[in-house]
Amino acid sequence: MVAVYHNEVENRKKMNQQVNNWFLSGHEWAVQQLSRAIANQRIGHAYLLTGPAHIGKTTFAKAFAMALNCESTLRPCGECRSCRLIAQDGHVDVTIVEADRVGGTLKIDQIRELQHMLALRPYEATYRVAILRRFQEANPATQNAILKTLEEPASSVILILTVEYIDQILPTILSRCQIINLRPLSSEQVYNALLSQFDTDPSTLELIARLSGGRIGWAIRTAHDPSQLEQRNVAIQQLSDILANKSRVERFKIAEFLSKDKDTLRIHLDYWITFWRDVMLLASGSSAEIINVDYSDRLKELARRLDYKTAHQALEHTRQATVQLGQNVNTRLAIEVLLLRYPAG
Ligand SMILES: [Zn+2]
Repeated sequence: MVAVYHNEVENRKKMNQQVNNWFLSGHEWAVQQLSRAIANQRIGHAYLLTGPAHIGKTTFAKAFAMALNCESTLRPCGECRSCRLIAQDGHVDVTIVEADRVGGTLKIDQIRELQHMLALRPYEATYRVAILRRFQEANPATQNAILKTLEEPASSVILILTVEYIDQILPTILSRCQIINLRPLSSEQVYNALLSQFDTDPSTLELIARLSGGRIGWAIRTAHDPSQLEQRNVAIQQLSDILANKSRVERFKIAEFLSKDKDTLRIHLDYWITFWRDVMLLASGSSAEIINVDYSDRLKELARRLDYKTAHQALEHTRQATVQLGQNVNTRLAIEVLLLRYPAG
């Protein structure tokens, strides 16, 4: 993540773009809003960044921390000592607090430790910035622990919380934060950002941009390691095969196999959703761009055989299955039901 952000700063410099931006792809309105707040010295004490995973919330938070503490007049410059240290996660006054792993638990002790530190004056920066990542991983007691800091903020402290959905935060915390809702970028914005940073074959970058659903963080990570696309190929091929010629018995067998690894299954289901979305769009005659461009022949064939309603139902059933998996239902049963509901095509 550090290297990625650092590379992006370097690339922007090379491209000789205006330095008066945050070296970010997209999110312009949020950048403008916060730049104005800094210029007018109307900075809030707490911000809540919301948006899907891998949309670039932490990168945005770090860029904000750079803009707050930059030593140049055009903030952030990306070159001063403060900007460089923040970009490299090495600034003593900028702290990232998060659970030990994605899906883990943010501990109350981590909040207390942070609070001790925030009680001190900044070592060298204008502002002490604490970025609390994936704050939805804090249970209510831990969330409540941060309230004290929000209620009696030191003038030099800025808290930046990130969550996927706004309802994952206690209302008492929500009411004390300025909310910045980051939206997915267009696939064109993602594609252009990738093109400026990677030498990879443009058709691969285009596929990554479309699959990203506008999540720039995911896109950059995947462009660094395109082998991640392999899992997606497996998932799409598997679905295509299931639809092509699998009997009930074979579908049961596949369901049994898939249910053994719930994490992989979830990833596959997300790809299947993009597949059904494409079939549905094509069947509807929409001119919207499809995501799985490298499977366009197969998608068109399915769109001819299955009507819009069938594709839409398959999409809905797949979505329901992902919700069920998050609710601790019997995984095998959920996936069996799903596969039996799928049409033959
Ligand atoms: Zn700077």
